[in-house]
Amino acid sequence: MRHANISVFIPHVGCPYACAFCRQNTISDTERAPTPKEVDVQLKSAFDRIPERDRANTEIAFFGGSFTAIPEHYMDALLYVAGKYLQKDCHSGFSGIRISTRPDCISDSILIKLRNAGVTAIELGAQSMDDEVLSANKRGHTSADVVRSTAFIKSYGFETGLQMMTGLYKSTPEKDIKTGMDIAALAPDTVRIYPTVIIKGTELARLYEQGIYVPYPFDDCIDVCAKLMGIFADRNIRVIRLGLHAERSLEENAVGGFFHPALGELVRSRMIRDIIENAGTPAVCKAPSRLMSALVGHKGCNREYFAGRGVVFERDDALPADTININGKDFRIG
Ligand code: SF4
Repeated sequence: MRHANISVFIPHVGCPYACAFCRQNTISDTERAPTPKEVDVQLKSAFDRIPERDRANTEIAFFGGSFTAIPEHYMDALLYVAGKYLQKDCHSGFSGIRISTRPDCISDSILIKLRNAGVTAIELGAQSMDDEVLSANKRGHTSADVVRSTAFIKSYGFETGLQMMTGLYKSTPEKDIKTGMDIAALAPDTVRIYPTVIIKGTELARLYEQGIYVPYPFDDCIDVCAKLMGIFADRNIRVIRLGLHAERSLEENAVGGFFHPALGELVRSRMIRDIIENAGTPAVCKAPSRLMSALVGHKGCNREYFAGRGVVFERDDALPADTININGKDFRIG
C-alpha cells in the first residue's frame, strides 16, 4: 500500500498572525477546531476501517493551521489522543504523526515534546525566501527563520517538509524560482507548492480589488511551477502537493489567483514541453500509460505546440511509471 494520511484539520485557532492571503477556516473547509474528543472519534473510526497491514504506512496528519502555535493544553490533548493509535503505544497502530507550523514557532522544548509524542514529520510554511515578499504578505517571519528552523528540525531527525507559495503580492516569477532554489538548498525531504489563490475576505483580496495586487499571468504560473518541479526533481526532493485541494468552500470563496482543477496536469505537460524543447526537434518521445496524457499535453497542447516539427509521441509501458524518454534519454517527471 502507498503512504496515506488521516487528515485532521486544525484551523486558524490560536494563530496570532494574519497573513495577507489566509482565511484558514475557508481553506480547510471547516468552521472551528475539533475538540480532542471529536479527534478521538475520527481516529478510532480510521483505525477500525484501515486494515492492520496498512496502518504501518499511514500517518495522522494535523494540518490547516500552525500546530505548535495553538494553546499548549490543546496541543497536548491532541497529541495524547493521537498517541493512542500509534505503533509506539499500540503495536498495530499508525506509523506516526505529521504536523505543519510556522518557521518562528519552533524551539528545543517543542521539538522534544513532539518527538516524545510520536511526531515523525514537521512541515514549515516557508511561503517565500524573499524578505520583501514575506513582509508585504504580513507573514511575521523572515527567510532566516526558515533556514534556522529547518536545520533545527533536521538535527532532531524529523522528516522535514517545506511549503512554498508562488505569485504572492510583490513576488515575480524570478523571485519564485529563487525561492525554489533556496528551499532546495536546504535539502528538505518533501516540498509542497501552492500557487496563490485569492480568498474572499482576506487582505490580499482587498489589495486585488483595489488593483494594488496584480497577479502575474496564469501561463507564467504554469511555467514557474514546471521549473520548480524540475529544480526539486533534479535534487531528488519529493513534491508531495501542487496546488490547493479543490474543496467546495475554496471554489466558492476564490476571487482570483491561480486556481485550476487540472493544475498538476498542466504543469506536468509544461515540464515535458520544456524537456522536449531542450532536447531539440525532431524527437521521439515515449511515456508509460500514466504519463501519456501529460506527454501529449493537457488537451493535446504539446502535440499542437510541436506540430510540424517532427515530434512523435509513443506509449511505452516498459518505462518506469514516473519516467519519460526523449530520443533515448530518460527523464523523471514524478
Ligand atoms: S500563520 Fe498560518 S494560520 Fe496563521 S494567518 Fe498565517 S497562514 Fe494563516
